[in-house]
Amino acid sequence: MTAKTTKRRNEMPAQHDLYKTGDDDAPLQIKDRNGDVVLGLCRRCGRGEIELDQPCGKQADAQRYHHLLDE
Ligand SMILES: [Zn+2]
Repeated sequence: MTAKTTKRRNEMPAQHDLYKTGDDDAPLQIKDRNGDVVLGLCRRCGRGEIELDQPCGKQADAQRYHHLLDE
C-alpha cells in the first residue's frame, strides 16, 4: 500500500493525531473494506468525528465513542 499523505487540515487549538489510511494500527472500525480510513479518530485521546472540535488530550468521553464503534 502506498503511503499517501493526504494531510487533513485541522483547525483545532490542540491538534488531534488522527489515524490515516495506511496506518497499520488504525482500528478496523474506522476503515472501510478497502482498508481506507473513513472515520476521523484521534489516536491520542480517542475522540472521533463529532468530538474532534474539542481539544485533544482529555480522555473523558473517549471511551464512549470507542464503545459506539464496537456496537
Ligand atoms: Zn485527540
